[in-house]
Amino acid sequence: VTRAALLFSAFFLLAWPASADDDCPNDWYSSKKGDCWLTTPAFSGKPEKYYVHQHGWLIREDCVFHYGGNSLLDFMTTAWNKMNPAIGPSKGGCMSVFNPGKGQGWIDDIWTRRIILTCDQAGSSGDTCAATRKVRMGQGGGEYREIALMNVGSCDQPGGTGVPGIIFHETLHALDVTARSDHNSPENMSQVQFVQDQVYGAEMVCFYGMDAKTRKDVNIVQCTDLADGDPNNKCNGFNAEFSDYLRAGIYKHEGP
Ligand SMILES: [Zn+2]
Repeated sequence: VTRAALLFSAFFLLAWPASADDDCPNDWYSSKKGDCWLTTPAFSGKPEKYYVHQHGWLIREDCVFHYGGNSLLDFMTTAWNKMNPAIGPSKGGCMSVFNPGKGQGWIDDIWTRRIILTCDQAGSSGDTCAATRKVRMGQGGGEYREIALMNVGSCDQPGGTGVPGIIFHETLHALDVTARSDHNSPENMSQVQFVQDQVYGAEMVCFYGMDAKTRKDVNIVQCTDLADGDPNNKCNGFNAEFSDYLRAGIYKHEGP
């Protein structure tokens, strides 16, 4: 660790909203109180410190050093706003339009599923920008979900959904939203297969479907799946072209 890195870390610790001694109350989980720090061996089996995001994710302390507190929290809130049925489209909402009930379920489950963010491989140069898995609790029984942030930069390209998109996408995995078995190799899917994947679909609809300019690039099946059949006709204006010979990337539109 260099001196510069230590100074850098200290800066971000100070910038983190709750101070490092702002411990969570004992009932933080049942009362859904975040913006506080928790030290617990429950996840890994040895005591570790986590920042509890105001909307329920837990962020292991070392992620502070990699992503800078406030920007990561803001990216997570951007993702959460898209899920929240109380946030209208002019404020960055999405599920308030397409499926309020499903969005409410998601934000409730972010608290109850115990989703932690880790950064062991942050800054790695691999192909994977993030990955989510189910893990047995180190203590106390049950299981938790781990979102490992890895080579985030590789998925944070101009015109893409950015870090909020990565958080949104990985959180949907943590919430067990249905993904195709070949989800991790979209380059091998045809477009008509790709649009059946509900994790990519929700990401495309919520990041590009809100704006008429980019909505035409998002497939209508991605919208009707998210809207559970679209009983309220919210999917007008989405793209209705299908192809089983064009590659996923042709209409994948990770960027508009
Ligand atoms: Zn995925």
